[in-house]
Amino acid sequence: MKSAAFLLSALTAAVLYAQDTEIHTLQVRGGIYMLSGGGGNITVQTGPDGILLVDTGLAANSSKIMAAIRKLSDGPVRWVIDTHVHADHTGGNEALVKMGATPAMPAPARVVAYISVLDRMVTPLPGEAAIPATLWPNDTYSTPYKDFFFNGEAVFVTHLPNAHTDGDSIVFFRRSDVLSVGDLFMPDLYPFIDIARGGSVQGLIGGLNKILEIAVPGRYQEGGTMIIPGHGRLCDEADLVEYRDMVTIVRDRVEDLIKQGKTLDQVKAAKPSRDYDTQYAAVGSFVSPDAFVESIYRSLKK
Ligand SMILES: [Zn+2]
Repeated sequence: MKSAAFLLSALTAAVLYAQDTEIHTLQVRGGIYMLSGGGGNITVQTGPDGILLVDTGLAANSSKIMAAIRKLSDGPVRWVIDTHVHADHTGGNEALVKMGATPAMPAPARVVAYISVLDRMVTPLPGEAAIPATLWPNDTYSTPYKDFFFNGEAVFVTHLPNAHTDGDSIVFFRRSDVLSVGDLFMPDLYPFIDIARGGSVQGLIGGLNKILEIAVPGRYQEGGTMIIPGHGRLCDEADLVEYRDMVTIVRDRVEDLIKQGKTLDQVKAAKPSRDYDTQYAAVGSFVSPDAFVESIYRSLKK
């Protein structure tokens, strides 16, 4: 029996993308591409050194995802970076590494993640199914960041504490000026704050502000640093500012209601996210207004 949160994570992809399991490829800049439709968004960096992936989608979609990657490069998959533990971002860890090996580069790829991603895979929540060791990252870090050089550019992997989960990483491709940020940011959906896995609204806002420190807008506040979200369309800094403001404003409203002594039910009844619901909680979307408000309430009460 998997935990509700884990199932929800897989459901994100299933519900949102069930009608469209075709893999879509978008060139972001230079050798960097965004693949969507296979679970969470996947970032592919290609070049003379081979292939780097940020996240690996749902296990069931690995063959389709690899077929899409092979249209971009026939090089070996040498690096995988998991932005966090959820199955729609790590499900292809084993299959894509296996399928991405080439005769010239048969050694297994390095699968990078923050240490708590491994901890959570090794020790699942009570009642949750075990994660096979073949999916575990083999190159964890526990410092604030990890960096390396690949395909002619510096790649910065930065840990953002207790945001979407307690194992979130964002990946910055410095020369290309592209950020891949995982589920801290989903432009058309309320954030899913996975409290059972150490997520919190304070950490989420802190993480969004950290991303804004790195991102630089282009002309008229459009373009510039490209931001690949965990789910949804390709974004820039202005999209992220709007999102950070929404989360912060709703957080402030919930905080205020808590100060007034309201219970969780009373806070939900006050509908502190009402003016944003049309934009972020379309019918059938993954995180309902009540679920978003409850996750803020529980973070602040901790
Ligand atoms: Zn997630």
